[in-house]
Amino acid sequence: MPMIYFVTPTHFRPAQRADLIRLSQTLAQVPNLHWILIEDSDTTSPSIGEILKRTRLQFTHINAKTTSKKKMKYSDPSWKLPRGVEQRNAALHWIRTQFSSLRRGVLYFGDDDNTYDWRLFSEMRTIKKAGIWPVGIVGGLLAEAPTLFDNGSVSHFNALWKPERPFPIDMAAFAVNISLIIDHPGVEFSYSVPRGYQESHFLQGLNLEKFDLEAKADLCTKVYVWHTRTEKSVLEKPLEEKVINFEEAD
Ligand code: UDP
Ligand code: MN
Repeated sequence: MPMIYFVTPTHFRPAQRADLIRLSQTLAQVPNLHWILIEDSDTTSPSIGEILKRTRLQFTHINAKTTSKKKMKYSDPSWKLPRGVEQRNAALHWIRTQFSSLRRGVLYFGDDDNTYDWRLFSEMRTIKKAGIWPVGIVGGLLAEAPTLFDNGSVSHFNALWKPERPFPIDMAAFAVNISLIIDHPGVEFSYSVPRGYQESHFLQGLNLEKFDLEAKADLCTKVYVWHTRTEKSVLEKPLEEKVINFEEAD
């Protein structure tokens, strides 16, 4: 069974642990999944390492701190700057340095606050180059989904926001074969692309075109992942990263 490399950037905020627990308990049930968790911080946190260990999954726990110029404040609107750029790049770097020992598999960018149906994972394992599927509650739509030609190839996308993008889709809408990452060693995410173009920049870098996309999830008629977002917590006391990091008694 091909391996799924599930790449999750994660950053500190009051709900970080709650979101990671929920995600870890989803992923723990998935066979042949290697979780690459990249903390947006100076060091990896032991308590997050414990969450990873408890899944009994294969995992890689690394850190990559967003440079201060590109780091958003908690109060900033979420669209202000791209998120997860340096963390996803650290994961790509890890994959490329490990590639001789990596098993055949697929790479998926799974944020820590989305909601994943287990059926998504069975869909992505069969990807030859790149797979695509609908994403729920994103871009002002109940679901962003491609429409298909009769032969199953992608005809167009229903995105309302910047539909002129080469791939007007969310990060959660696709996965790619790991071989593409190895074959295109320079491809990574970047701050020098317009807002909303991270996905397009990445997929075009891998030399992919619309007709390369393999439609999954029942010809893109099923939603198996939702771009849920955790509400920002309002706390009555100012918060210090170290103080909130309550360790569970293991
Ligand atoms: N993230 C991060 N550093 C940040 C902000 C976000 O590593 O400064 C991570 C976050 O934990 C999530 C991903 O990047 O896994 C996308 O961020 P978020 O969910 O806030 O973005 P949105 O849902 O608005 O796309
Ligand atoms: Mn999110």
